[in-house]
Amino acid sequence: MTMMAFGLSISRGTSVTAFSFAAFSRAPTTAARRQFSTFGYRRTGALQSTMEAVADLTKSMGVEHPAYEIVKNDLVEEYGAATTLYRHKKSGAELLSVSTDDDNKVFGITFRTPPEDSTGVPHILEHSVLCGSRKYKTKDPFVQLLQGSLQTFLNAFTYPDRTCYVVASQNEKDFYNLINVYADAVFHPRAINDPNVHAQEGWHLELENKEDPLIYKGVVYNEMKGVYSSSDSRLSRASQRSIFPDTTYGVDSGGDPKVIPELSFEQFADFHAKFYHPTNSRIYFSGDDDVYARLDIMDEYLKDFDVSPESKPGSVIDWQPKVFSEPQRIVEAYPIGEDQPETNMVNINWLMNDKPFTPAEEMAVGILDHLLMGTTSSILRKTLTESGLGESITGGGLSDELLQATFSVGLKGVKEEDVAKVEELILSTLEKVSEEGFESEAIASSMNTIEFQMREFNTGSFPKGLSFMLGAMSKWLYDQSPTEALKFEEPLAELKARIESSGSEVFQELIKKYLVSNTHRTTVEMRPSKSLETAELEEEKSRLAAIKESMSDEDLEEVIRKTQVLKKLQATEDSPEARATVPALELEDLKRETTEFPIAVTESENDSGVTVIRHELGSTSGIAYVKLGVDLSGLDVEDISLLPLFSRVMMETGAGDFDQVELSRKIGTHTGGISVSVLTTAVHPDGSDESDILDGNYLQTKLIMSGKATSDKTTELFDLMKMILTDARLDSQSRVIEMLKESKSRRESAIIGSGHSAINTRMKARYRVGGYVDEMMGGISQLETLKELLKQAEEDWPTLLARLERIRNTILDQESCRSGMFFDITGDTSVQSKIEDSVHKFLDELPGDANGKKLQNFYKEQHPWVEPIKKLMAELAPIEDEGFIVPTQVSYVGKSGLAYEEGEQASGAAQVVARFLRTGYLWDRVRVMGGAYGGFCTFSPYSGFFSYLSYRDPNLSKTLDVYDEAADAVIAAAEQLKKDPDALSQAIIGTIGDMDGAMSPDQKGYTSLTRWLVNESAEYRQKFRDQILDTKPEDFREFGERLKNLKQSSVAVVSSKGEFDKAKEDGKVMKMKNIV
Ligand SMILES: [Zn+2]
Repeated sequence: MTMMAFGLSISRGTSVTAFSFAAFSRAPTTAARRQFSTFGYRRTGALQSTMEAVADLTKSMGVEHPAYEIVKNDLVEEYGAATTLYRHKKSGAELLSVSTDDDNKVFGITFRTPPEDSTGVPHILEHSVLCGSRKYKTKDPFVQLLQGSLQTFLNAFTYPDRTCYVVASQNEKDFYNLINVYADAVFHPRAINDPNVHAQEGWHLELENKEDPLIYKGVVYNEMKGVYSSSDSRLSRASQRSIFPDTTYGVDSGGDPKVIPELSFEQFADFHAKFYHPTNSRIYFSGDDDVYARLDIMDEYLKDFDVSPESKPGSVIDWQPKVFSEPQRIVEAYPIGEDQPETNMVNINWLMNDKPFTPAEEMAVGILDHLLMGTTSSILRKTLTESGLGESITGGGLSDELLQATFSVGLKGVKEEDVAKVEELILSTLEKVSEEGFESEAIASSMNTIEFQMREFNTGSFPKGLSFMLGAMSKWLYDQSPTEALKFEEPLAELKARIESSGSEVFQELIKKYLVSNTHRTTVEMRPSKSLETAELEEEKSRLAAIKESMSDEDLEEVIRKTQVLKKLQATEDSPEARATVPALELEDLKRETTEFPIAVTESENDSGVTVIRHELGSTSGIAYVKLGVDLSGLDVEDISLLPLFSRVMMETGAGDFDQVELSRKIGTHTGGISVSVLTTAVHPDGSDESDILDGNYLQTKLIMSGKATSDKTTELFDLMKMILTDARLDSQSRVIEMLKESKSRRESAIIGSGHSAINTRMKARYRVGGYVDEMMGGISQLETLKELLKQAEEDWPTLLARLERIRNTILDQESCRSGMFFDITGDTSVQSKIEDSVHKFLDELPGDANGKKLQNFYKEQHPWVEPIKKLMAELAPIEDEGFIVPTQVSYVGKSGLAYEEGEQASGAAQVVARFLRTGYLWDRVRVMGGAYGGFCTFSPYSGFFSYLSYRDPNLSKTLDVYDEAADAVIAAAEQLKKDPDALSQAIIGTIGDMDGAMSPDQKGYTSLTRWLVNESAEYRQKFRDQILDTKPEDFREFGERLKNLKQSSVAVVSSKGEFDKAKEDGKVMKMKNIV
């Protein structure tokens, strides 16, 4: 199972408080995350919002409360949502109450916080207000909630113009607890009276001995250093700045590391006083909870305040007028590594509108973006990719979540002499489209794709109510109606009618008006610099040296004293009395039973030879979610690392009679999407005790083709899936070269931006076959593979093509392939019965003999890859400390080993201990005291693999020391927990919370499928849950001892050359490798 960082890419330049822990326990599917990025604006919806359901909900509309006046009642039928907008009479706060049948309840409070400079004051404040408040007296109630609540979402984000605090829970008592803590935090934070918070979360000077150099420390300071280490992020920040020369969007609300140290405590406190006022707040509730209770709980906080005009209208966001009479050009440098090729990045950026769009226009602009950029065969994306002028697309097209919409597009990996050609190509393509228009098939495909997404409203594990809030906020924040913005039926119908009568004209007009004839546009060019990283570090060093120079002895002593005070404060445990102020659930509030999902398995259904698996859920809104699994075990081990390329080629080069563009349009027009991925997982051998640690020699390895469509379109969906499976056009040399270039560039960015994930995959590869396979396909070694494949594609295409064809021929082997296939269907009763005939037709037409040879039983025999891979592992992934050098100003530090060995048994209690370590000791030591953005650990009860990881870390060897002391901290905790049963309960509750999150229908089906595939029983899951619920202090001691004796432990680090050199001086010697 791959670890994923949950990138909350809500909008460009948005910062998020906590590196989401949920990433480790409930990683949303890639598909869900990708979709989420389109939810920022109005693309949300529900397929079957029946009027009966709505009628029931209208009862919760217009509920009266003496402290509030009702501004407006409104029904958003698209979502089955009954809403009332209130104004709090005394404070002027606005409150939107949304009633739906969703038990995943959401609360949010948003302030308009436009910054005037790039000190990052909104971002630092966002972190700081969660560090204790009037009623909740611990240092960090936020962490306490992370540790011991059933929350399904708990975070905060800083946008360029607003700061949002959001909590969600399916448990009502928990929900009110969370609201109380957040509401008290935003209005009465400790941070405005105690400068230590600003120092810790923002920035401070650190000095332990007078002769040491001064250094800057701070969580946000370091987080933003990580952000500015990413060239993509530099480009997008420069792009946004360039088109907003006069407004708040021209500065960085997240904070520029060079500017952050200009922020004083007084400015910080003033910013809070001005903007964190009820008058300037927008409060949001959604779900199935009681409306009156919502109004009551907020009145408790709001009633202490009177209206404040300086907060609102004082926070109004000004429109940026279109002031450029001709396009502007900005050239900046970005840092690259020693061995990196010297290529440029270039983005063209437009400020689209300087007054509000009409609803129909806004809908049309969203479709236009999809037509231009939405898929690999969309005209602008395709033209740029095929031009050979660069490695991968930048800019991402439309961004319309702020007051004004922008459009950005460009390329990176561009030769200096080609920069002008890229610009010329973008402009000429747009001009051409504005003259000639789009083909009707392209429009139909984009329209259906967006409409499907709106109606499906599939947010994965992300709370639906939060998507709704983000949609509402994109208008509400600018004093427009929060609910009008969410109604898509009318503008959609209007747009359809317009297309019906005049075809592509509506889009041509938009391109002319907002892009082609719009001179408020900039070109941002980023040029490579090998010395920039060093220069910036030197600049910081000399700045600090100058500061030290200017200080008297007394000044220095004062810095030393403050450093000590802060460190002492950070190291001091909260008293039990302080902890008791933060409200918590009790163990009795938890559900004892595991959640099971329906599954029905039919072997060789209709004598097809294919196993069919069905998950019949309550409602899937008329949609069928299907997965075809094709066995991979027949592949040669040397072809495994080709599978990511093979999966992409299947989807992106055309199939059968359809070329790339036609195929993509067919998919868009008839389905909700098709994708191909690879699933490898260790399984429990038949007859084994499921609690046993797996040796990982029994595996299932499948190519998975996933698709979704409404039940009346499954015939088309299945025809397309079959065509892609058997007839994908593998023979497309130029397309494959483009893909490889792009994949290489993406992998590099992924390693630099999420090095913790890369090193975790790397470390896993040292212990188990499955881990090694994951590394081959998605780790650091995949980057090497991509470089080799690119060379082969360019110089010896026939050989690469033969390899791709060999993969297909092997997995579709006529004699045996059906025996390794499964077809998995998730849908409600009506969907299942409607599609039955098309399913049987599909099974009939699949390749292979229905009565062919049987594959081996993967639950009885070792997987054929095991022996050859073990040989490779011994040679290529030995247990040794490795350091990977990339251009960066932060480190990602990992250490791992086996906490349990084959044949031993890990109890569910180990999950609780690992989580306790992650949210306690590691959070305190790596993040709070170390100044890293994140510090965590992972533990697998299946393989026994345990790892420590840090994220955007200013330290390297110090963090390794922190890891080495972790075991003792866990053992010590065992003693404390004996005296503090509440703390133990919190750790258990948090662990259960991780397991019981909200899921979308397709996630439920997928969970059920993987449980079946790994051969795991419901009895085992219940036993595991019981072990979690019954965790004792003794379990902490036991696990701590295991950490102390971590077997075969080793280190992996992604960092800069300079940091490795420093670590070497501390005796941390690693085998070094330049990878980017
Ligand atoms: Zn942050």
